[in-house]
Order: sequence, then C-alpha cells, then structure tokens
Amino acid sequence: MDSIIIKDLEALACHGVNPEEKINKQRFLFSVELDEDFEEAAFRDDVDYTVSYAAVKKYIQAFCEGNCFDLIETLAARLAENILIEFPRANAIELTVKKPDAPMSGKFDYVAVRVKRKRTRVYLALGSSEGDRNGYLDLAIDSLKGDKHFTNVKESGRLLTQPYGGVAKGEFLNSVVECDTVYAPAKLLEALQSIEKEGGRVRKERWGDRTLDIDIIFFGDEVVGSADLCVPHPDMQNRLFVLEPLAELCPNKLHPLLKKRVRDLLAEASARA
Ligand code: ATP
Ligand code: CA
Ligand code: CA
Repeated sequence: MDSIIIKDLEALACHGVNPEEKINKQRFLFSVELDEDFEEAAFRDDVDYTVSYAAVKKYIQAFCEGNCFDLIETLAARLAENILIEFPRANAIELTVKKPDAPMSGKFDYVAVRVKRKRTRVYLALGSSEGDRNGYLDLAIDSLKGDKHFTNVKESGRLLTQPYGGVAKGEFLNSVVECDTVYAPAKLLEALQSIEKEGGRVRKERWGDRTLDIDIIFFGDEVVGSADLCVPHPDMQNRLFVLEPLAELCPNKLHPLLKKRVRDLLAEASARA
C-alpha cells in the first residue's frame, strides 16, 4: 500500500477543557499518514488520480480552526473520520494530534493522541416480509446512499424466498448490498438498526415477520465475536437467500473462517437443499 504523509502541520485553535483554552488559541500539530493506491496517478502523472496533499492540509486546518472540542481525542477521532469521508481515494488513516502547550506542570515536549481509522468493504443482507417489501428495501438503499459514512452502494437483484426458521409466515423479499464504510463494526450495527427502525421494524421474535431486516454478512475479512455481533454472519453458509445474491456481487470472496469462496458455499448449500 502506498502512503501520503504530512508531518507536524500547525494550526491555531481553541480545544481544551479549561475555560481559558476556549478563548486563547493555542498550537496543535497534526501528523497524518494516508494509505491509498497511487499506481494509476503515478502512471499518468496526474494529481486528479491521487489525494491532493495540499487539499488535505487545507482541510485539517479548517477543521481544527472551525471547531472547539474539550478533548483532543474528539478532535482526532472526528477529523480522521471526516478525512476518510472527504477523500474517498484514501483507504486508511493514521492521525496524530500533538498539543505542545497543554496546561500541565513540568517539562515535556508535547502531549499527543493517535487514532487509526479505515474504510472497509462490507456485505449486508436485506430482508422484508411485511407490508410494502420493495418499498422497505428501497428505503434501506436510499438511507445507505444518503449517509456519508457509506460509499459505492451496490445492490444485487432482489429475490422472493420462503420464510426461514419456521416462525415467519410471509414470503420474504431478499437482496444483498455491497458498500464501503468508514464505520467500525459496532457503529455499523447501530447505524443499520436505526435504518431498520426507520423502516418501522418492531423487534418481536427472532426469525419472525418483519418490515426490514439488515444483517452484516461480511465486514472486510474481519472476524467479530462480541456479545451483540457475530461476523461473518454465523448462518450465512446455510442460507440460499443470502448466498445467491451474494454470489452475484462477490463470487470469489473467501470466507475468512470457513476458507471457502462464496461460489463454493453456494454450490454446497444448493446441493444440500
Ligand atoms: P438472524 O441473525 O439469524 O438472521 P434475525 O435477523 O431475525 O436472526 P434479529 O432479531 O434481527 O435476528 O437480531 C438479533 C440480534 O442479532 C441483533 O440485536 C444483533 O445484536 C445480533 N447480531 C449478531 N450478529 C449480527 C450480524 N452479523 N448482523 C446483524 N445483527 C447481528
Ligand atoms: Ca436476519
Ligand atoms: Ca437481523
């Protein structure tokens, strides 16, 4: 992976917990490392094919000077996320914010915080079995497209399927969405649950009828096993209504735990059906 680096860029602004820090500007130093693939830009020797470091510099200074946070943690985390949103060619960022004049006794060079953020390709399974099913899937797509934390939103074809798990009665309309997100897994789940809510989802029994269900199938190649989130989705390899539309979008993607390609998982599930 190629990187663009800016070191110790200075900006004057009012971030800090103490009241004086809200009035008197102080120095902040920003070091940023942006990962991108600039092979194409180098081949063409054309700035339109890369992240302009001058534009990044301007963005950092404007963000730092245009906001007023208590914590440099907030400044760093929000700035890093916003840079990824603003510069879609950047895939990942490491950002260090130094505060050389932090109000603290003793001799020191600076205090600093560092954050790392990245963009991840994710696959989401959509399902609806109640009401205007096409309308609910449209709403999910529109919400993803309208949220700047998501880019390159692409939906598979939609298919009608029989309910799964023996609880729901209605036929389901299903599809899979491929997109890139700057959210971390837990935040992604939160964002998707709020889209489900917008779609009138009321949590009743698992696998019951619902207006809109959005499951995380893959989060890049990451494996997540927290109390609220299991990724890759633990049952995806048994669900034709997930594998069929998924294979349309990423037949060659390797399941990070099962070490099998989506096309092979589909073939195996079809043979069992
Ligand atoms: P299933 O996940 O088997 O398809 P479901 O979609 O009917 O069942 P829900 O009632 O929508 O289940 O979700 C129950 C909980 O599952 C959610 O509150 C969420 O915390 C958790 N969950 C765990 N892993 C995932 C995942 N990969 N995607 C979405 N939710 C998940
Ligand atoms: Ca589900
Ligand atoms: Ca779900």
